[in-house]
Amino acid sequence: MKFNFLLPKVILALALACGSALAKEADAPTQTLFTNVNVFDGVNEARIENASVLVEGNLIKEISTETIDAPNATMIDGGGRTLMPGLIDSHVHINMYKDGTLPEFQNTTWEEIGARSAAFAQEMLAMGFTTVRDMCGAHDGLKRVIDQGLLAGPRIYLAGACLGQTGGHGDWGIAGQRKGESNLERLELTRLVDGRSEVLEGGRRNFALGAHYLKIMVSGGVTSVKDPIFQSGFSDDEIRAAVETAKDMDSYVAMHVFMDADLSRALDLGVMVVDHGLTITEPTMKKLVEKGAFFSPNLTALAPEALEHPMHQDPTFPPTEKFLYLRENSKQLTDLVKKYRPKMVFDSDYVLLTGVPYRQSMDFTKFHVAREFGNHWALQMMTSNGGELAELTGRRNPYPKGKLGVIEAGAYADILIVDGNPLEDITVIGANEKWFDAEPRDQDVPTIRMIMKDGKIYKNTLN
Ligand SMILES: [Zn+2]
Repeated sequence: MKFNFLLPKVILALALACGSALAKEADAPTQTLFTNVNVFDGVNEARIENASVLVEGNLIKEISTETIDAPNATMIDGGGRTLMPGLIDSHVHINMYKDGTLPEFQNTTWEEIGARSAAFAQEMLAMGFTTVRDMCGAHDGLKRVIDQGLLAGPRIYLAGACLGQTGGHGDWGIAGQRKGESNLERLELTRLVDGRSEVLEGGRRNFALGAHYLKIMVSGGVTSVKDPIFQSGFSDDEIRAAVETAKDMDSYVAMHVFMDADLSRALDLGVMVVDHGLTITEPTMKKLVEKGAFFSPNLTALAPEALEHPMHQDPTFPPTEKFLYLRENSKQLTDLVKKYRPKMVFDSDYVLLTGVPYRQSMDFTKFHVAREFGNHWALQMMTSNGGELAELTGRRNPYPKGKLGVIEAGAYADILIVDGNPLEDITVIGANEKWFDAEPRDQDVPTIRMIMKDGKIYKNTLN
């Protein structure tokens, strides 16, 4: 009898011991060891030559110029190429990966928008972008699918629905439609909020649907038709309401803005990220830097090549008129940026563009930023600066375990290996000096040889 009682206990103890040993093995984080690489760490201009980088799980564990002992790691020989952080695009619109015009969204279903955003995610990752910051129009649906590992795509930081006023840059309904009646409002890509209480409600709803920060429209825009470019958007009280709502979530407010006076007043009211801001004057630039705000100016609009763009060949086309006004009133911008060196991030902001023209525009944008400010600064914008902006989401940060945009111990393992040295030749990350007249290319960027995100390899053409 005793024996009979004991036996099951022994079996149970053995089973537990065995089980925990198996569990330990299964739990042991996988390791990847990159050898024979020159590391651009996202910050310093000098690369760490002949280095090795050890990844454990989804984090970078060690960077060394000595041999790293990791017998169980998967070994990848970089062949003397550059290992660098995955790129960060700090201004995208994942739910506007569609051709045509904004009013044509009246005829679009969620099904189509969702499928298009999945295509967008794959496109971005293939270009080396392991993190994107959605600057309104998206909730956390796509992000959840990617984070679950069901779809290849970048990490996504998001603003939720665009918050704009009736008749402002976020008002994309056709004439005759009242507030709430347009398809884009129904689908909650944009939300019209007028007055303090609607701003509070709209901002809170965005956070409830997964947003990490808020985006408000503080002046007229180029692609929208109801708002003149000089339009001042949002009263002081409405801006204050947005800032309070974000603060409640330990996060921040970003703004779409073009006009200097609005930019200046919104900085005073606590907005921390300036998107566009092309007509910024010297006193406002000083203020922006003093406040530690981020600047995301979408510089490609000012490139000489933009004038040749097929889109702008009709001067009576309303966006072209606005675009020409902005070019005329932003001649000071580049010099101010060079003089005050604000915290700048890389931002593409392409909407209503897909496939080959989208790729051509992205490749040219990478090139143009480097041409204006040098490869090192451009690469910082695309990596460590973007990572720093991601952290502005505070306790709302969806990826709080490590830093983004840097190669350092403890950072997320979002890593590229590229041919050559991007600090000397920006084309190795896919940049192209030609824009809409560039040779059409496939989704793959051949000089980006390895793409790792969150410790997982999505592409590897190294032998
Ligand atoms: Zn935008």
